[in-house]
Amino acid sequence: MAYDSANIFAKILRGEIPCDKVYEDEWALAFNDIAPVAPVHVLVIPKGAFVSIDDFTADASDAQIAGFYRAVGKVARDLGLAQPGYRTLNNTGSDGGQEVPHFHVHIFGGKTLGPMLVVE
Ligand code: AMP
Repeated sequence: MAYDSANIFAKILRGEIPCDKVYEDEWALAFNDIAPVAPVHVLVIPKGAFVSIDDFTADASDAQIAGFYRAVGKVARDLGLAQPGYRTLNNTGSDGGQEVPHFHVHIFGGKTLGPMLVVE
């Protein structure tokens, strides 16, 4: 699947639409989800043009991958989630329920979370 530079997270990265920013560095941008499903619900996105974890892990450089995942961990630590814990989630493609075609990791926390996954 080709990257669509008109997707909403690409627009956020370009500064064309605002976000509620939590963290930014050379590799990643983190912002609060617009429709949170937990007391803490943050999205972390890489700065490169990647659709999903599929092309990210195939095509991104080691530095991009390391920088991105270090940012995910740092955001969670900075939010005070390392203890008592939190959940990360990445949806991929249509069966995975991915809505926005720019790779992102959800960070959920701030309460005891429910079952890991409900498959209907
Ligand atoms: P996914 O289903 O994994 O693609 O998740 C996409 C997420 O992006 C959802 O949780 C949406 O609530 C969130 N979202 C969509 N548009 C925005 C936006 N403009 N700012 C922040 N979060 C957004």
